[in-house]
Amino acid sequence: GSRKLVEVLQEELQKHGLTDKIKITITGCHGFCEQGPLMIVEPDKTFYVRVQDSDVAEIVEQNLVGGQVVERLLYKDPNTGEPAETYESVPFYAKQQRLVLHNCGHINPEDVAEYIANDGYAGFVKALLDMTPEEVIEDVKKSGLRGRGGAGFPTGMKWSFVRQATGDKKYVVCNADEGDPGAFMDRSVLEGDPHAVLEGMLICGYAVGADEGYIYVRAEYPLAIERLKIAIAQAEQYGILGDNIFNTGFNFHIKIKAGAGAFVCGEETALLTSIEGNRGMPRVRPPFPAQKGLWGKPTNLNNVETYANVPYILRHGGDNYAKLGTEKSKGTKIFALTGKVNNTGLVEVPMGMTMRDIIFTIGGGIQGGKKYKAVQIGGPSGGCIPEENLDLPVDYDSLTAAGAMMGSGGLVVMDETTCMVDVARFFLTFTQSESCGKCTPCREGTKRMLEILTRICDGEGNMEDLDTLERLGRVVKNTALCGLGQTCPNPILSTLRYFKDEYIAHIRDKR
Ligand code: SF4
Repeated sequence: GSRKLVEVLQEELQKHGLTDKIKITITGCHGFCEQGPLMIVEPDKTFYVRVQDSDVAEIVEQNLVGGQVVERLLYKDPNTGEPAETYESVPFYAKQQRLVLHNCGHINPEDVAEYIANDGYAGFVKALLDMTPEEVIEDVKKSGLRGRGGAGFPTGMKWSFVRQATGDKKYVVCNADEGDPGAFMDRSVLEGDPHAVLEGMLICGYAVGADEGYIYVRAEYPLAIERLKIAIAQAEQYGILGDNIFNTGFNFHIKIKAGAGAFVCGEETALLTSIEGNRGMPRVRPPFPAQKGLWGKPTNLNNVETYANVPYILRHGGDNYAKLGTEKSKGTKIFALTGKVNNTGLVEVPMGMTMRDIIFTIGGGIQGGKKYKAVQIGGPSGGCIPEENLDLPVDYDSLTAAGAMMGSGGLVVMDETTCMVDVARFFLTFTQSESCGKCTPCREGTKRMLEILTRICDGEGNMEDLDTLERLGRVVKNTALCGLGQTCPNPILSTLRYFKDEYIAHIRDKR
């Protein structure tokens, strides 16, 4: 409804003769999906939620003309009913640390000047003019940044592999093929701050010695593609992208490749195969993309959020970045908070915050005062975290130890009414239909596991099914060719680990 609001707001400003004095900025997503459409009045930061067309005249008359806040449109805490007047005082934002998202919801993503005015491209200029490529890689290594796409591989180390690889031509690729159900982190960054991703790729290109980049973005994200196109054109116009950038002899061009929506194309080798114009199927590794990637050339591949962290690291230094987070998981992480939680939306928190804080403080607790049951983290490749693990710090290693994984950042909260066997079946149905069929463990294993799960859900399972399911899950995890197959049993294995009684209840109930 935001577009219509802008039109109504323009009309109202015109009526009051305010069009010269008050500027409307259309921003990307502000993250607080539950309360949208949002309107912020600057410079006071007055924060209006769930604004409808019919509210606009009152905001203009009472606030913009009269200087009085419209109380009824302020955010109210769902538990206490307390209103929050400014953006910063809303509990949803107060405990976040919006480092990657700092521009999202604040600047016009279609105006490069607004990005530059907020320190945009300062990291790239510093890297290009004051640092050697090796110093840039060293700084990224110092920051401790790990890939935000799921596996958590150290970014600086990956860059150094590509830098050291021999080849006359190298590529930088951005994975924007976000496909997990319930995940929209990359989409929001691309729509709200596309230049941050371009800047991260430029810094990477300079560091690894590449002159060409590709952004592989799913075609289901038309606004993200549109804003990327505008951002690339503006960066070229400003001489930030192109040949001989700032007369340094450094050349860098970025192209967009729209993916057709296959989940497996988020796997790095399938993604590269798809850019090459072939059917997106994973390849056997090694060789890894750092040695033999796009068109057989050394290629650096990171996801949207990883690249969007890089400008901050260059601006503030790797040492400063490394002060955020835990010993082995540095910086912040963006999560898409969805499901049965009061404050659904996009949140960015320092690594190491507990899941309890994310769900109950930032998320405002469970809808309708119901009891928390579990949160599915990491989408169809992830696992469930039950109540007893809510105080675990959210970082790569703790989550893996708990049988889940960071994944790209989808968080689906479930309450006491959710059947965990159904949840496992939902995610397995998704991965089974997205399995590309190249390797036997995943092609056959996902089908057989789904058959067993369906049998259990239909009340026709038996106790032996549980052992078969667990054994099959471990075999597929250990033998599948790519990450999709290696992680798709996670929802089954983690629900069997923490909620086996629900499987048993399904089996016993039939009798
Ligand atoms: Fe294809 Fe699944 Fe094998 Fe990956 S694990 S190559 S998706 S069949």
